[in-house]
Amino acid sequence: EPLVFSGVQPTGNLHLGNYLGAIRRWVALQESNNCIYCVVDQHAITQALSVWGGPAELMRNTREVTAAFLASGIDAKKHIVFNQSRVHQHAELAWIFNCVARMGWLNRMTQFKDKAGKDRENASVGLFTYPNLMAADILAYRATHVPVGEDQKQHLELTRDIAQKFNTDFSDRIAELGLGVETQSGDETIASFFPLTEPVIGGPAARVMSLRDGTKKMSKSDPSDLSRINLIDDADTISKKIRKAKTDSEPLPSDVEGLKERPEADNLVGIYAALIDSDKESVIRDFGGQQFSVFKPALADLAVEKLSPIAAEMRRISADSGFVDSILKDGGERASVLAEKTLRNVRDIMGFLQD
Ligand code: ATP
Ligand code: MG
Repeated sequence: EPLVFSGVQPTGNLHLGNYLGAIRRWVALQESNNCIYCVVDQHAITQALSVWGGPAELMRNTREVTAAFLASGIDAKKHIVFNQSRVHQHAELAWIFNCVARMGWLNRMTQFKDKAGKDRENASVGLFTYPNLMAADILAYRATHVPVGEDQKQHLELTRDIAQKFNTDFSDRIAELGLGVETQSGDETIASFFPLTEPVIGGPAARVMSLRDGTKKMSKSDPSDLSRINLIDDADTISKKIRKAKTDSEPLPSDVEGLKERPEADNLVGIYAALIDSDKESVIRDFGGQQFSVFKPALADLAVEKLSPIAAEMRRISADSGFVDSILKDGGERASVLAEKTLRNVRDIMGFLQD
């Protein structure tokens, strides 16, 4: 049976990329799947303390991300919404995955290189092993589908590699305990405990780019606030940021092929397409040949129309932190039951004695 899992870090400045690339697509998936949506607070502390901001910021951001989930239409009653640190099985499974994943696999992760920057000696060990914790987040529920932005593709491939190695290494034991499903691995048949999770990535906003630099993804951690549209920005701020967005000086092309060498134009067209739930072709049909002086105001109006109800709802929900906390508590209790079921099996598979 399909199970959907995904998460957002409570690192502040929730933005349009998080919404269009991830959260909004989660809403669609909850119609016909069981879904678990997590505020991954243990990932938030992998960067320098000056970046994640300390305990007061972490609490505030955790509640804000939860409010954003709810305001966007995530149903926390039908599905599960919780903060990661409440379910200690994630960290327990991450330790086991630290011992399954190879140094060489993690050395290839481009996000670590980006986030660690030049001063790699000074990066936290947690930033390096973060993808193992992410694999644990997903596999603690044996989730089959993970909707994320394109920047997470490499981490999901690593998750599959970890699942595959675990299944292969312990296949005999998994079979002996009757915990596996028979799967093909190369030309062998093995008993698999973990599924090979499918990434769910796509659409015109799978990778929303910075408004200041069309070659960099829009990010919470970008020091320039003009680089991103925050979900809580007011209408004037959204309009100003779109007006100031970097572009070239050509009018929009008459077909999507013409967007290829124009990252900034391509980004704005992609955002417009995602906001109207359509594709770039249809945006070009309407705006091909137009100047940015026409397209940008139209995009600003559309962004304000789609985002301001969410911002208003976020503010309304955030005003009642007791309500937000009760959602996380309830979700955490339900998630713990599911994760503990998996971990009991994993401990047996590994040979850890338990009652
Ligand atoms: P940070 O800079 O702290 O890593 P982030 O903006 O990358 O913040 P995350 O919490 O790491 O946000 O990611 C949450 C989800 O949003 C993930 O599914 C990620 O793939 C998606 N996402 C992040 N940035 C973008 C983007 N620019 N376009 C589309 N999806 C994105
Ligand atoms: Mg990120």
